[in-house]
Amino acid sequence: MSNCIFCKIAVGEIPAEMVHESDSAVAFRDSKPVTATHILVVPKDHHESAAAMALVDAQGLADMFEVVGAVAQAEGITETGYRVLTNVGHDAGQEVAHLHLHVVGGQPLGPLLSKQ
Ligand code: AMP
Ligand code: ZN
Repeated sequence: MSNCIFCKIAVGEIPAEMVHESDSAVAFRDSKPVTATHILVVPKDHHESAAAMALVDAQGLADMFEVVGAVAQAEGITETGYRVLTNVGHDAGQEVAHLHLHVVGGQPLGPLLSKQ
């Protein structure tokens, strides 16, 4: 997609701190990290969400989780643990309309959802 920041990062038009690349995805450091380790795993093809990608390229979506594993290994957070999340749409606060998996860790993360 022509005006998509993550499409541009994926092809090297906009710089990012790359940490991993596969045939179908790239992984780079989030420019505003919220945890000690904060990596974004992004498919090279433009898909707005995981659900959208699953409909047309389920294998590509599965391959992204291989990249997550490789990133966790390279960042040394496989043993301590980490969280993978993806925001979809307005209520989740999705800022970039190109699927990205946030891989966050490198510190205790606390509960994702607090139960009342
Ligand atoms: P989301 O709210 O799930 O759409 O997350 C978008 C994420 O992309 C945020 O955590 C931003 O800090 C990050 N981000 C936006 N632009 C860039 C960029 N050029 N390089 C690296 N990370 C970015
Ligand atoms: Zn895109």
